[in-house]
Amino acid sequence: MIPAPFAYHRPRSVDEALGLLRQYGEGARVVAGGHSLIPMMKLRLAQPEYLVDLQDLEELRGIRSEPDAVMIGAMTTQHELINSALLAANCPIIGETSLQIADPQVRYCGTLGGNVANGDPGNDMPAVMLALGAKYRLKRQRDEREIAARDFYHGAFSRALQPDEILVSVRIPMPVAGHGYAYEKQKRKVGDYATAAAAVVLTMSGGTCISAAIALTNVADTPLLAGDAADAVIGTALDEAAIDEAVRRARAAANPSADAHGPVEFRRHVAGVMVRRALMRAKERAL
Ligand SMILES: Cc1cc2nc3c(=O)[nH]c(=O)nc-3n(C[C@H](O)[C@H](O)[C@H](O)COP(=O)(O)OP(=O)(O)OC[C@H]3O[C@@H](n4cnc5c(N)ncnc54)[C@H](O)[C@@H]3O)c2cc1C
Repeated sequence: MIPAPFAYHRPRSVDEALGLLRQYGEGARVVAGGHSLIPMMKLRLAQPEYLVDLQDLEELRGIRSEPDAVMIGAMTTQHELINSALLAANCPIIGETSLQIADPQVRYCGTLGGNVANGDPGNDMPAVMLALGAKYRLKRQRDEREIAARDFYHGAFSRALQPDEILVSVRIPMPVAGHGYAYEKQKRKVGDYATAAAAVVLTMSGGTCISAAIALTNVADTPLLAGDAADAVIGTALDEAAIDEAVRRARAAANPSADAHGPVEFRRHVAGVMVRRALMRAKERAL
């Protein structure tokens, strides 16, 4: 439970942090809240030679709205997401999801950037980002790029992030006013990772579902966008038959492995239950 030796850096600006990453290359890792990386270092599943701590980088913090988007700095904590009036008014699924992550102590330190950049299929925020159509802004010393969350995850702990890049912010297209949303998570006990979870964002018009996105947590190597399942409800009144079909398609898309959360069939079953609950709650909330 003692990490391998490492050198610790605490840069005062993003430029300084990027310079350190460039200098140390693959031996370096950034640390944000440390609540995923430090446990992995203690178990020697991660052994960075250089830790670049982002705590002092105020430019990576904060939540602001633009005409067509909400921008969230990578170092914004889960606690801050829960307490943001701006998010509560415009994109409430983020606060709802944050409240289901771990416990208050973890949420005071854990950041949005760390949660989405980590690459653990058990993290809750990536599926929500897929459902919202979020984009990640990545910066390195000489350039900057934006990548859709839907293109970011390649496998467990494998994502489109170079060793010398920092995730600086997350851009969420402004959800339509009156949209329906829900994040439903089944866990063994309070504070645990999901056995399976589902994020739903949809819009209703005149009793018909005119758009929907469904994404799943912890039932594959990556967060899963269940496009077929969403197609089953678009154009319907979100009646029982449509929801049954979406559940069937989501279960077909899920590819969980057996682990401490349960056997494969159980986890696949739970994924469907979460999709059903999330669709029903999102429908109730849609105006
Ligand atoms: C007891 C416990 C229970 C937990 N339960 C849950 C849970 O139910 N659901 C859940 O989603 N999470 C859970 N977590 C994880 C927690 O939410 C973490 O805080 C989060 O996943 C990582 O955020 P962090 O800021 O701590 O990142 P860190 O641990 O500092 O970093 C995680 C990884 O992301 C990289 N990284 C961090 N920030 C950036 C950045 N800006 N740019 C590039 N790379 C970056 C790091 O290099 C590292 O590889 C739990 C943690 C604990 C200790």
